[in-house]
Amino acid sequence: MSASTAAADARPAYRAFRVTVARTLELGPHFTRITFTGDDLVHFGTAGLDQRVKVVLPLAGSGFEHFPMVDDWYQAWRDLPVERRNPFRTYTVRYTRPDEREVDIDFVGHGDTGPASRWASRAEPGDEAIIVGPDERSPGRMLGIDWRPGNVTTHLLAGDETAAPAIGAILESMPADATGIALIEVPAVADAHHLIAPEGVEVRFLPRSADGGPGQRLIPALREWVAQTCRVSAPRHQSMAEDPDDVPLWDVPEGTSLDGDCYAWIAGEAGMVKAMRRFLVTDAGLDRRKVAFMGYWRLGRAELD
Ligand SMILES: Cc1cc2nc3c(=O)[nH]c(=O)nc-3n(C[C@H](O)[C@H](O)[C@H](O)COP(=O)(O)OP(=O)(O)OC[C@H]3O[C@@H](n4cnc5c(N)ncnc54)[C@H](O)[C@@H]3O)c2cc1C
Repeated sequence: MSASTAAADARPAYRAFRVTVARTLELGPHFTRITFTGDDLVHFGTAGLDQRVKVVLPLAGSGFEHFPMVDDWYQAWRDLPVERRNPFRTYTVRYTRPDEREVDIDFVGHGDTGPASRWASRAEPGDEAIIVGPDERSPGRMLGIDWRPGNVTTHLLAGDETAAPAIGAILESMPADATGIALIEVPAVADAHHLIAPEGVEVRFLPRSADGGPGQRLIPALREWVAQTCRVSAPRHQSMAEDPDDVPLWDVPEGTSLDGDCYAWIAGEAGMVKAMRRFLVTDAGLDRRKVAFMGYWRLGRAELD
């Protein structure tokens, strides 16, 4: 093994990148795209799809003074006294431009109740942050990607506004002959924004009404599309162990050997995701190995609660 191969193998899949805000762009009343820049981003992972990262936010008074810029940052962060721990939250990489040393992340604004939403709504060029994300030179550079449709022919992407960045990146990566639908529930009509998708994949934004909760438009739309499109076996409970009420809020089957009809990727508010998964597996009879579901946030609970 050469010295450079050994160095790459030892490199962690994810590490902390120091960044500053280059610019912000309003995509809709509840979406802000923040473009981060930093010299080190030349090595930021470019795998795309739904790859997740952590955005670390400044602490009032001390900024990032105490954040451990080490390989095992999470353990080191946990070892700090609570008041020295920078808050962080999970986001999706929307675009990377390593040559320009830039990364875009689309933040959903949901008011000042959470540190990330609050920070993003006030972000200005020059503001500092840290992104814990993939290192392109690491053998683990694909970590944090949950889109694994195998050779399934028809794709169902369903999510709320927090899943819109992942859905957008996945759609852009699909082959030109891909077929399926992307159903994206958003808080307001003006939050619908242009996504590039193959001709055979319909993109439908579903604005919820002012008094509507997560899933108000998405669950009925998903039910209707699945009933019309997916040829599934007779509805059945797939065994007690697979009862969706018992499963955790994150399950991503290994999709490489999949083929056949519909593959579903669903993400967003946890209760909504659970209801959709229950419908797909228990009521519609979709093979649970073809349903990836991810609770991205929980109503009434902060991410680290
Ligand atoms: C893999 C993954 C990828 C994600 N990608 C993105 C992304 O690209 N863009 C994005 O915006 N989010 C994304 N999210 C969701 C994001 O991590 C959460 O919304 C997170 O809770 C936001 O942190 P916060 O500090 O704003 O709120 P928190 O401090 O975590 O929560 C505070 C309160 O706000 C509520 N809350 C949290 N999020 C929302 C919301 N969207 N709408 C309404 N109320 C909310 C909580 O229920 C809680 O009551 C992703 C999550 C995961 C797990």
